[in-house]
Amino acid sequence: MVNAGRLTARTASGMRTPMAEKSASSRGPVAIVGGGLGGLHAARLLAAARVPFLLLEARSRLGGRILSEDGFDLGPAWFWPDMQPSIAALVGELGLAAFPQYAQGDVLAEQAPTLTSTLAPARYPGFGQMASSFRIAGGIAALVAALAKDLPEDRLRLGVTVTGAALRDEGGRLTLGGSGDAGTMVEARAVLFALPPRLIEKTIAFAPALSPDLRGMWRATPTWMAPHAKFLAVYAKPFWRGMGLCGTAQSSVGPMVEIHDASAVPEREGGAALFGFVGVPASARARVGETVLRQHCLAQFARLFGAQAETPLATRFKDWAADPFTATADDGEATGHPEAVRRPWFDAPWSARAVMAGSETAPVHPGYLEGALLAAEAAVARLDEGGALS
Ligand SMILES: Cc1cc2nc3c(=O)[nH]c(=O)nc-3n(C[C@H](O)[C@H](O)[C@H](O)COP(=O)(O)OP(=O)(O)OC[C@H]3O[C@@H](n4cnc5c(N)ncnc54)[C@H](O)[C@@H]3O)c2cc1C
Repeated sequence: MVNAGRLTARTASGMRTPMAEKSASSRGPVAIVGGGLGGLHAARLLAAARVPFLLLEARSRLGGRILSEDGFDLGPAWFWPDMQPSIAALVGELGLAAFPQYAQGDVLAEQAPTLTSTLAPARYPGFGQMASSFRIAGGIAALVAALAKDLPEDRLRLGVTVTGAALRDEGGRLTLGGSGDAGTMVEARAVLFALPPRLIEKTIAFAPALSPDLRGMWRATPTWMAPHAKFLAVYAKPFWRGMGLCGTAQSSVGPMVEIHDASAVPEREGGAALFGFVGVPASARARVGETVLRQHCLAQFARLFGAQAETPLATRFKDWAADPFTATADDGEATGHPEAVRRPWFDAPWSARAVMAGSETAPVHPGYLEGALLAAEAAVARLDEGGALS
């Protein structure tokens, strides 16, 4: 029975989602599987509506694909306020400082060598080409920290892997894996899956089983950026800026294919950085190994930006294709951007008690940070419409 008082939860876009008010319920919490941006935003909406929830996250940290180390982004780095109003509004609402990607100066283009010669990198005027890409001071993980700060700590369980989901009359029952929790059951009134569909299909067993059609659709949905790896080098100063370079480079030599300035803001000693997307396919990366890849990436920075680039204060490398909480074997090769899927992500009987909230399931901007917010909002609204929140 819906309580007389109706609440409205503010979403990042300023849209208001009507929900039935509910205090602690005998029906159990809404279980949120995954503590990336989608799961955290869903938790925030449920908390605002006073709907009990329990967030289960496999890693020992929140954020999922969002990963900033010492303020340097090894996962997402940018959002585009001109096109993505929800993330722009959330960043503002949380009081985070955003700044444009550094784009003043020339860009470099490294061309493949010919049979007879190696070509020096070409230099072109940059025209501020990245000016509409925005970063967050302290790294995108500042967004994760700000979201988590307002959530009740005892509702966030880290290091807990969900391995099974069974449908019950009153909701769902999740089976947990992992050493300490193996076999533990969590009863929930509904389940919100905030992780890539392809990963769920591979790692979570459903009872009753999902239809082959649905499983095929999930498997065919690429997890955005899962096949990729980033290399980052930290320097005392952004010396390339003094050379009239913005830090952006394209390369058909490699191993990195696209390079950008990744310096921390506010500026600090030891806060300058360059990063690149490694263009070597995941299978070859696994064969070659991280040590060799790091050496070649550093040599490429030196080819492009001079000898100073050869001696960074530190380097960082993150291979997302090798991370089992992001990628599956199907993510070895980049297959393009996920398309917005118009079909439902669950069919009966699961559709009554389960919803998707991972970015790849968003109606617009799937795969992006913006998509994660929109997917979470749509998922919470769907649970409400189906009566699972009352
Ligand atoms: C290298 C890279 C660069 C990117 N660049 C950008 C960018 O510049 N701009 C942009 O908008 N987007 C970018 N993205 C995409 C962006 O990171 C994602 O859209 C967003 O972070 C997805 O959030 P999510 O919550 O949907 O999924 P995820 O962040 O993947 O969260 C899923 C969560 O589920 C957890 N999990 C997995 N399996 C289980 C299980 N069995 N039980 C419990 N928990 C589980 C995971 O640990 C994870 O925390 C980039 C991604 C990468 C990897």
